[in-house]
Amino acid sequence: MSENDSGHPPDLMNKLVSLCKRRGFIFQSSEIYGGVGSVYDYGPLGIELKNKIQQAWWREMVYRHDDIVGLDAGILMNPEVWVASGHVGAFSDPLVECTNCHRRFRADELTEIEAGLPEAQQCPTCGTTGQWTDPRQFNLMFKTFMGVVEDEAATVYLRPETAQGIFVNFKNVQDSARRKVPFDIAQVGKAFRNEITPGNFIFRTREFEQMEMQFFVKPGTDEAWFETWKERRMAWVESLGVRSERLRLHAHGKEELAHYAKAAFDIEYRFPFGWQELEGIHNRTDYDLRSHQEHSGKKLEYFDQAANERYLPYVIETSAGLSRTMLVVLADAYDEEKIEGETRVVLRLDPALAPVQAAVFPLVKKDGMPQIAENLAADLRGRFNVIHDATGSIGRRYRRQDEAGTPFCLTIDGQTTEDGTVTVRDRDSLAQVRIPVEGVAGYLADAMSPAP
Ligand code: ATP
Repeated sequence: MSENDSGHPPDLMNKLVSLCKRRGFIFQSSEIYGGVGSVYDYGPLGIELKNKIQQAWWREMVYRHDDIVGLDAGILMNPEVWVASGHVGAFSDPLVECTNCHRRFRADELTEIEAGLPEAQQCPTCGTTGQWTDPRQFNLMFKTFMGVVEDEAATVYLRPETAQGIFVNFKNVQDSARRKVPFDIAQVGKAFRNEITPGNFIFRTREFEQMEMQFFVKPGTDEAWFETWKERRMAWVESLGVRSERLRLHAHGKEELAHYAKAAFDIEYRFPFGWQELEGIHNRTDYDLRSHQEHSGKKLEYFDQAANERYLPYVIETSAGLSRTMLVVLADAYDEEKIEGETRVVLRLDPALAPVQAAVFPLVKKDGMPQIAENLAADLRGRFNVIHDATGSIGRRYRRQDEAGTPFCLTIDGQTTEDGTVTVRDRDSLAQVRIPVEGVAGYLADAMSPAP
């Protein structure tokens, strides 16, 4: 792979957008009304893939470690939370506007403006050069009102990150789950940001989901834990089947660090549009707990009985976008190959993440084949997500499943009615083997790699 070549098929993003719509992974929100800016809906296959990634994350974070527990906090919170967290004051991006076409951009994404040369920067939309307003800070939080009066006193925010729900519940969780530091709270949920330049499909949207973990540690042990979590998180992304040569860790320089962070690394993926963040790993020190303690007036210190000492724990945070992880998984799995002059599009998803694990086809709609196929699908359902498809030529049915990432197609044909065997077609190698109908469930279970 050369420096300029991401190794993805040409024009991948457009192909992905259309495949996702065609196969029911992702739709534009409110499409029949012309859509709404950068919000997406997840269709029948999309929700399966998203759930599987989320479950894999939960299994890895909550079930695999003794010191991690889960939480599901509300999206709406007391607005003081966002004052204490620094979001009301500092959760903003520098915004500039092209005075010709009035499109707005993040100044830090326009290289010449970043370099202090606004007069040299062309507007990416209309091409006008150097016609920019001065950068001003634009707060990314969505505001709404709680209760019946729409005034400042009733203002609440749609949370821009899930993390604060964890911090304000630190004491509740620690007391009720009887946890000793170090321990961790994990949460998956919606977050909202009024992004200035959303785009690249579901890469940057205004409504999205995060999978966040806050690991509470004794100050002084934070740097070692930071290293541990960097390694664990990278290994997890690789376990989803994402190619390691398209992953890297990027250390934040001093000027990049968020207002709360002592150190930060991003796990970056090589998207068709360049290296971009997939997940952030941050050493947040005791910034958040200290700030909430001051603003709320409630003690949030941890008492270490054995050492008879009180302290505010430091926090190592791992913060991944669920929808962004899904884009990584889709982009990495998308493949095209030429077979007998025709292009086959195939999503080479890890079988454990595939929305549908097996499709059952009767070769033709006669000689008892549809009934055998229906019975087999019914038998497999519950243990596996299985579909039964009897329409169209067998070739078309295979193609549909290849695009959906279904790892196995099971075909009932004339021989099945004679000897009770079915054909299992492997999505990736296209190899076909015959196995007895009764052996299919065991075959599928064996063939699925253990869930990441
Ligand atoms: P960026 O610099 O790209 O705006 P960030 O550094 O502000 O992102 P964090 O606040 O660290 O991002 O958020 C953690 C994770 O949440 C990101 O790594 C990303 O996967 C996801 N995320 C953040 N913003 C969005 C968004 N607008 N759409 C989709 N996912 C997002």
